[in-house]
Amino acid sequence: MKLILLGPPGAGKGTQAKYLIEDYDIVQLSTGDILRAAIAKKTPLGLKAQEIMAKGDLVSDEIVNAIISERLDDEDCQNGFILDGFPRTIAQADALNAMLDEKNISLDAVIELKVDEDILVKRILNRAKESDQTRADDNEEVIRNRLKVYRELTEPLVEYYSAKGLIKSVDGTMGMEKVRQAIKSALQE
Ligand code: AMP
Repeated sequence: MKLILLGPPGAGKGTQAKYLIEDYDIVQLSTGDILRAAIAKKTPLGLKAQEIMAKGDLVSDEIVNAIISERLDDEDCQNGFILDGFPRTIAQADALNAMLDEKNISLDAVIELKVDEDILVKRILNRAKESDQTRADDNEEVIRNRLKVYRELTEPLVEYYSAKGLIKSVDGTMGMEKVRQAIKSALQE
C-alpha cells in the first residue's frame, strides 16, 4: 500500500500513520520527524531547518524532495509506505510525481483527515502540555502560522489529488480508533 496522509497540523496524521504501519505492514516517512532528528543531531541539514521550523514556516522544497527521494529507495519502503507531512506544496507534489514515475511506483490513495481549525489549536496545545518532549513550534502564535501555511500552500493539494481520483476524505474529529476504521473502509472502496 502506497499512501499519502494529508491534513492540517493536529489532525492526527502521526497517530493514524502508526496505525497504518500496523494494519498494512508499511513504513512511515515523516519529513517532520526526519527534520527534527537532524536538528537533534545538529547536522548541517538540522541547522538549516531549525529556525524555519521554529517559526512554523516550510523548509525549502529542495530539502524535503531530496529527503523523500533518497528514502524511497531504501529496502524497507518496497512493501509500501505512508508519506506523512509530504508533499506540502504543489511544487512538492509535482516533484513527487516525477520521482514516483522514475522509480516506477504508483500511489494507491491520498487520505485527507478533515478537522476544524478551532479544534486543531486546542488539540495541539493539549499535546504540547501532555508531552514530555517540547516542540519549538507548539505555541499558539506558531500554531496559527502553521495552520495558515497549511491553508494557503497545502490545502490546494486536496483538489490536486481529487483531480487524479486519489482522494479519500475522512472525518478526523472522531475518536482515534473510529478514524482508523474509517480509513480502512475508505481504502477498501
Ligand atoms: P510536521 O511534523 O509534519 O508538522 O512538520 C513540522 C515542521 O517541519 C513544519 O512546520 C515545517 O517547518 C517542516 N516540514 C515538515 N515537512 C515539510 C515539508 N514537506 N515541506 C516543508 N517543510 C516541512
